[in-house]
Amino acid sequence: MRKLVLFDIDGTILNAGGIGGRSLYQAVEEICHENRMFGDNPTPELGRVRMSGMLDTQIVHDILEGVLPERAIQQLLPDIFDRIAKLLREGCKAERANMRLLDGVRELISAVADHKACLLGLLTGNNKGGAAAKLDVFDLNPFFQLGAFGDDARSRNALPAIAARRAFEQTGKRFVGQDIVIIGDTPRDIECAHHAGAYAIAVTTGQYSREALAPYQPDALFDDLSDTQSVMGAILSPNHV
Ligand SMILES: [Mg+2]
Repeated sequence: MRKLVLFDIDGTILNAGGIGGRSLYQAVEEICHENRMFGDNPTPELGRVRMSGMLDTQIVHDILEGVLPERAIQQLLPDIFDRIAKLLREGCKAERANMRLLDGVRELISAVADHKACLLGLLTGNNKGGAAAKLDVFDLNPFFQLGAFGDDARSRNALPAIAARRAFEQTGKRFVGQDIVIIGDTPRDIECAHHAGAYAIAVTTGQYSREALAPYQPDALFDDLSDTQSVMGAILSPNHV
């Protein structure tokens, strides 16, 4: 086994049609309310923050910073993540029709999972339960051996090392530098790959165009993941072994 292949979820594997963002805000509001964080006062208007490419931990901090002290945010995080996952499970069921598996992804994931040189995992801003809820809609959970998630750290750049550690624990192999392939749809996915010295594959099926992603210099850039052979070629490409 020589490649640890890590997929982002939103905009890369699937499009959840806004269910993710709504579930996150609703979870923050409900948990603040249930814990009486603002006493008898209503929960203040929560500012909208950027979510694309960000970790759930980071997003919750960005929303609650300035409203609650850091220590209080830390204490609420586990409950907020559980609630996000619960709301996502319900939301994905109720709004299945708004969710879309992106072109070619099932074929690609299946090809990577079947390839004996590859260990397949996730590197996503979603918390672990939320990730499972989204992937379950398309029966994709069984393909992934491991992951690094939005509740593992506050910054995406911390996730490749966490995934590599879990891969080592499972396989006894140390994946370093370009043994790690990170596939994602935002500048943050590319930056995170570069930060880890990993191989960055970018895809324009999320909110960022080819023109928007190219300046971040991914090692490979695809309009979608439907050409399984070409993407597998990039993943396995000998010039970065
Ligand atoms: Mg994404």
